[in-house]
Amino acid sequence: MQAFTYDAPTSLSQALSQLAAAGDTGRLLAGGTDLIIQMRAGVKQPGVIIDAKTIPELQGCTFSAQDGLRLGASYPCCKFIEDATMQQHYPGLVEAAGLIGSDQILSRASVGGNLCNGSPAADTPPVLIALGASCHIAGPNGERDVAAEEFVTGPGETVLGPDEILVDIRIPAPQGQTADCYQRFIPRNEMDIAVVGVGSCVALDGDTCTAARIGLGAVAPTQLFAEEASVYLVGKPLTDENIARAAELAQGIARPISDMRGTAEFRTHLVGVLTRRTLKQAGDRARAKA
Ligand SMILES: Cc1cc2nc3c(=O)[nH]c(=O)nc-3n(C[C@H](O)[C@H](O)[C@H](O)COP(=O)(O)OP(=O)(O)OC[C@H]3O[C@@H](n4cnc5c(N)ncnc54)[C@H](O)[C@@H]3O)c2cc1C
Repeated sequence: MQAFTYDAPTSLSQALSQLAAAGDTGRLLAGGTDLIIQMRAGVKQPGVIIDAKTIPELQGCTFSAQDGLRLGASYPCCKFIEDATMQQHYPGLVEAAGLIGSDQILSRASVGGNLCNGSPAADTPPVLIALGASCHIAGPNGERDVAAEEFVTGPGETVLGPDEILVDIRIPAPQGQTADCYQRFIPRNEMDIAVVGVGSCVALDGDTCTAARIGLGAVAPTQLFAEEASVYLVGKPLTDENIARAAELAQGIARPISDMRGTAEFRTHLVGVLTRRTLKQAGDRARAKA
């Protein structure tokens, strides 16, 4: 690992100044569970490390029935998944965040870091897409919001400029009978990356689906919003038949590769299976809120 300097800013404005001064060599360090491994491998060689855990604006996790969730970008996954309010309102995001590595990894890793790392197989982005999350970004020219499905632009690439910081992730409050779900397929029981991951969120009025969003992971260079499949369900009862059609539509947008974890054909099959399962489970959770 090459030498670097370490800064521990105590405010967002200080962090932005330090990042600007570092030029192209600056990097945020949230949990470091991706970054430090990449530095050791020589894939990334930052000259200046800026500690995201010491920036108060990037911490915390708050929910209100009016504004929904504000999740600080570097807030540790272990605290997020243990929070009873998060488990109640965003069970699918808790499922996804809880899959990241072991207890040790979860104690450092953050949902923001998972997103900023830009891996097509990352677990939280599909369910963030399903939840209609927006990514709040700060930079030298002010603040902006980017939809979760637009945040990752390619493997290891995001919309963030070198002088920008993901501050927090914002998710609308679930209205009425709304619930989410995340499932992935991995070749062994734990500590592996998704062969395919699917996040679904549905809102029900009685039997009728009033809103739906489906996010797909590990089947394209970026996570995908399965928009046609999501729109198809709206206004229809959430029956097995309609779920099956939505799953077919989701399969239609998958552009997977074949690699040692699975063939493109297998991954496309998994999109169908996991879309059906997550829609059904999200539906069951939503019905339970009646
Ligand atoms: C053993 C092991 C198992 C793992 N299992 C999984 C798994 O099952 N599923 C999964 O999805 N991932 C897994 N990972 C990968 C990793 O733990 C996650 O991607 C984690 O969420 C990264 O979060 P972090 O806070 O550690 O990010 P970091 O490593 O600190 O940062 C990741 C990248 O994002 C940038 N960054 C971080 N925060 C910000 C910010 N606020 N603004 C701008 N840029 C930022 C960093 O500069 C870096 O480039 C695993 C890793 C290990 C080591």
